Amino acid sequence: MRQHADGAGLRGCPTIINAAGPLTRLAGAPLAEGVLEAMTAAEAASFDMFELQAHASRAIAGATGAEAGVVTCGAAAGLLLATAACLARLDIGRMDALPDTDGPDQVIVARGQRNGYDHACRAAGARLVEVGLAEALAGAGIRDAEPWEYQAAVGPRSAAILYVAGGRARPPLAEVAAVARANDLPLIVDAAAELPPAANLRRFVAEGADLVVFSGGKVLGGPAGTGILCGRRELIASAALQFLDMDMEWSAWHPPADLIDKARLAGLPRQGIGRSCKPGKHEIFGLLAALDRFVAEGDAARHARWLATCRQLAAGLICPHGVETAVEGAEAVDRVPVLVLRCATDAAASELRARLAAGAIPVHTRHDPFRPEVVTVNPICLRPADIPPLIAALSRR
Ligand SMILES: *Cc1c(COP(=O)(O)O)cnc(C)c1O
Repeated sequence: MRQHADGAGLRGCPTIINAAGPLTRLAGAPLAEGVLEAMTAAEAASFDMFELQAHASRAIAGATGAEAGVVTCGAAAGLLLATAACLARLDIGRMDALPDTDGPDQVIVARGQRNGYDHACRAAGARLVEVGLAEALAGAGIRDAEPWEYQAAVGPRSAAILYVAGGRARPPLAEVAAVARANDLPLIVDAAAELPPAANLRRFVAEGADLVVFSGGKVLGGPAGTGILCGRRELIASAALQFLDMDMEWSAWHPPADLIDKARLAGLPRQGIGRSCKPGKHEIFGLLAALDRFVAEGDAARHARWLATCRQLAAGLICPHGVETAVEGAEAVDRVPVLVLRCATDAAASELRARLAAGAIPVHTRHDPFRPEVVTVNPICLRPADIPPLIAALSRR
């Protein structure tokens, strides 16, 4: 175990080489340039958290094209808050009752887009209503969910539509947005892992999403416990009311009007269902610095940085017998380039992954369920000091 390689501050906790990318179970991504400094700067100051989130809202609106936004403690927290906002809107009685609801509580989602993170929607009090059949994925046809199936599922209990963005997501978002609009239902988009490209910060709002969540701790390079929820002003106001600290008096409460329009509320809600989604001031400043940096660096420079790491690894590698290497995504600046080690069989790849993870310095790589014969090395979380031991581990027979 690499007990002390990273210094006494880590208290002897063993570290790993993260060649799998910014995964929560591997502690997320390294903080982007400037993030730690922003978090340290926040340390010295106190804030009214409504003012701070309104400040964040303006920055998020600028970067995403949404009307408003808040910093949450992750994309999953954003999904819970987005759902709570769709269930309660600005009705403080409904906010108080969640996760119980006597109003519309159904969230429509394509069956093929269901995943473990949508637990967050159920936690807010929603019931998921599945539509469509992922026949292409099942190998039993060529189709997936279709717009008419969303329409057929709409009824008096419908509260929202959930769409999980991704390369394989069907039907196209714009077609689902058309159904949402025709039925006056808010459309929530889970875009947690859809960066890069940077253009995706604006894309989902532009295509008709009412609420969008992004992870702060993945490629964005913010603190691992952060995320963005952005979208329509009224829904963001509802979300804010359900996770910010509400322990004060109505008469003494003056929220910034561009975040929360106090005149539209019947009173002051109590601590909401999203209270556990609160980030601290450090996380908020860290996330905003990461967002600035992500936009400023741009896809091409970021891609070049990652590609250089992949090429350095490929150049140093002496491949084990029966393994072929290639750098993939070298031309696509809107994607993350990776180094792939193609093994002779699925079993050989899984053996290689296991051997790397069991090494003196554990190396975590990525398993692609669609290409089980491949071991993927993702450059995002690799530090310069990781390169020599990683080359050694990958070259071992
Ligand atoms: C990672 C991920 C999440 C959760 O994001 P956190 O920021 O870790 O809460 C949700 N949905 C999808 C699709 C993800 O990939």
